[in-house]
Amino acid sequence: MQAIDLQSITIDKVHYTDADMNDISFSVLRLDKIHPIISGNKWFKLRFYLEEAIVQNKQTILTFGGAYSNHIIATAAAAKQHALKSIGIIRGEEGKKLSLTLEEAKELGMQLYFISREDYSNKKMPDELKEIKDQCYIIDEGGYGKNGMKGASTIINLISSEKYTHICCAVGTGTMTAGLIANSSSQQKITGVSVLKNNRSIESEINLLLEVEMEENKWTIIHDYPFGGYAKYNPQLLDFMNEFYRQTNIPTDFVYTGKLFFAIIDLNKKGYFNKQEELLVIHSGGLQGNRSLAKGSLIF
Ligand SMILES: *Cc1c(COP(=O)(O)O)cnc(C)c1O
Repeated sequence: MQAIDLQSITIDKVHYTDADMNDISFSVLRLDKIHPIISGNKWFKLRFYLEEAIVQNKQTILTFGGAYSNHIIATAAAAKQHALKSIGIIRGEEGKKLSLTLEEAKELGMQLYFISREDYSNKKMPDELKEIKDQCYIIDEGGYGKNGMKGASTIINLISSEKYTHICCAVGTGTMTAGLIANSSSQQKITGVSVLKNNRSIESEINLLLEVEMEENKWTIIHDYPFGGYAKYNPQLLDFMNEFYRQTNIPTDFVYTGKLFFAIIDLNKKGYFNKQEELLVIHSGGLQGNRSLAKGSLIF
């Protein structure tokens, strides 16, 4: 497997003009460039979990996810790089054919166990795993947790200056957002764009990780751009992703970053950002997920 290449991360300045001739300039932190398959932010979120697993002498990393999960494949790859075994508990019955994501996770040595959606939401472990559970280091779905936040907070270290006054990112579990909030300077604002529908508990989940009360206005979660819900999409989103690529040469994914950049452009049109702000948008990767779209949907 290709190694993770942190040197390849760049900050790209982009300019976008929408159909109504509203334009916006901002910088993009290209975490998507660290690896073709391992999602940028997942590697950052996983790093301290893996360190802790090694300190605790665990041989196996066990985690949870769906059939197209960026977290599952990133965990499989990261475990392999650290010479640890990995187990993925996958939501839903095993289909006739594995998704490409799961196929690759398996190639990376991950053992897959499929459980029903009901068992999954109850976090019920398959019986076969009861005996080895104690040898496993367990990571929550999506890497949610304190170590994940700590890992994500190191994303801020890639930005040498404080010239960015406003940092924006996509929000799933909120772990990355919490890390950015925790490690950014007090003048920097964070806006997260939720990719889940009506995920009204996300603010409290972020606060749970942060522990300390932040100043009001330090961070905001936007709930207006889920496009129907997690991993849902429509032609408008795909058209936007194609147009964004045409204008900026930056590929996005339909689960997270496509919705994020769509939101940035739309929020700008609505006057959400003020002109003096220096905007940095985190491209957190996730491009491997686009392989579940029909061929020809995207121009990149
Ligand atoms: C998982 C993921 C996110 C969301 O990160 P959270 O820490 O769960 O909020 C954003 N972008 C991409 C590409 C991801 O894979």
